[in-house]
Amino acid sequence: MAIDTHAHLEMEAFDGDREAVLARAAEAGITAIVTVGTTLPDCEKAVALTRLYKPVYAAVGIHPHEVKDIDAATYDALRVLARHEKVVAIGEIGLDFFYNLSPHEVQLQHFREQLDLAEELDLPVIIHDREAHPEILDILRPLKGRLRGVLHCFSGDWTMARECLDLGFHLSVAGPVTYKKADQLRAVAREMPLERLLIETDAPYLAPQPYRGKRNEPAYVMETARVLAELRDMPVDELERRTASNARHLFGIDGDLTV
Ligand SMILES: [Zn+2]
Ligand SMILES: [Zn+2]
Repeated sequence: MAIDTHAHLEMEAFDGDREAVLARAAEAGITAIVTVGTTLPDCEKAVALTRLYKPVYAAVGIHPHEVKDIDAATYDALRVLARHEKVVAIGEIGLDFFYNLSPHEVQLQHFREQLDLAEELDLPVIIHDREAHPEILDILRPLKGRLRGVLHCFSGDWTMARECLDLGFHLSVAGPVTYKKADQLRAVAREMPLERLLIETDAPYLAPQPYRGKRNEPAYVMETARVLAELRDMPVDELERRTASNARHLFGIDGDLTV
């Protein structure tokens, strides 16, 4: 059993065969999937999916790519969505200084505002960080003790990992850990405390080996689990169980909490 802590089941990429994707996930032993909104309409769709499918939970938030389109009503709408019982986090929120699809100032402002929203609602955060490591840390540092959450698809080095862990955050490892050149990520995944480790697909993106280049889906999180178990020299079922337990605690997902 495992939990995919970050997928985008609400995206169009899954409109044609969502039930088959969920069936393959169940068959692979996945007991819960957190589907993560990126725009307001996609957040609404994500919440709707939680009503249709028992293993699906949702996060609501506006992705840094999309924050340029936020208006005052967006925050009211997020507040309403976040009240749904299967909404387990605010996300994905953060900074993306690689694609720069929203201006930096706008990204910084709405990252801060959505962190405030998470604190107000007492929900964990799911943070997207691409090429913005120092800026992310500058914003999180003064909030120490006030927030909990995860840096998803972690891409920093060990120094950054250490600081995020000191700030109380979890780190989530995605498909890139299976890629040839990911030595830095593998080092972090090997050294970090198991209690703070989560696994994810970020489906439909970032398919792990041997599916690289194809559409990713939750069932493939097992490939990431397999590589992590090898790195940490432990049985894969234990790695799956422990990371699932971490996810249940962080997101308050019901279920068997024993490990
Ligand atoms: Zn992301
Ligand atoms: Zn994502």
